[in-house]
Amino acid sequence: MCKLCETNPVYEFTNKRKLCKRCFVNYFVKKFLYTVRKFNMAHQGDIIGYKKGNKLKEVVLEDLLEFFSKKSGIKIVTLPNTKANKIAVDSSIDSESTEIIETLIKGNSSSFEKQLPTENKIIKPLYLFLDEEILLYAKIKNLKFKGGEPSAGSSQFMHPRRKLKINKKDNIQEFVDQFEKKHPEVKRAIVNSLLELYK
Ligand SMILES: [Zn+2]
Repeated sequence: MCKLCETNPVYEFTNKRKLCKRCFVNYFVKKFLYTVRKFNMAHQGDIIGYKKGNKLKEVVLEDLLEFFSKKSGIKIVTLPNTKANKIAVDSSIDSESTEIIETLIKGNSSSFEKQLPTENKIIKPLYLFLDEEILLYAKIKNLKFKGGEPSAGSSQFMHPRRKLKINKKDNIQEFVDQFEKKHPEVKRAIVNSLLELYK
């Protein structure tokens, strides 16, 4: 927190804490490193593969992995690459909470493992971020990305065409988005409940 946080905020948490650009980037990077450490996502000698793409979350994941590789010396490669023993994917709180609700609705709780921060070779370094945080990070860092911004979080990010595409997954996402509007932090709470379950 700095003097600018109150006067020039770019982000406000549900608890009203505000962050300026610099402090937001700092918060974001720290949280990323915390996620990797807390869930044992990477060790010396690992080779982390990731899909190179130009969508928002792919671009942010790449930016963070490059930073992490420089800092830790752990190698990263683009997929497909047979040397990779870990595979980083770009799931966030928004995508995970939607998947968890979908799994609940289908009544197939045995497949919850797929929604954990790591599963076998798969690691999810963006696991504790909301899509709106990922978008803000990309904007502040001037990262170039293509395609729609994530719909989740608030309707201002919603691509108008999304609404025309009616399928079950979109309905569930819409439901979770609406729920989040009425009950801020509910997406985070869903993911945290799952983590509690598997502690
Ligand atoms: Zn600040």
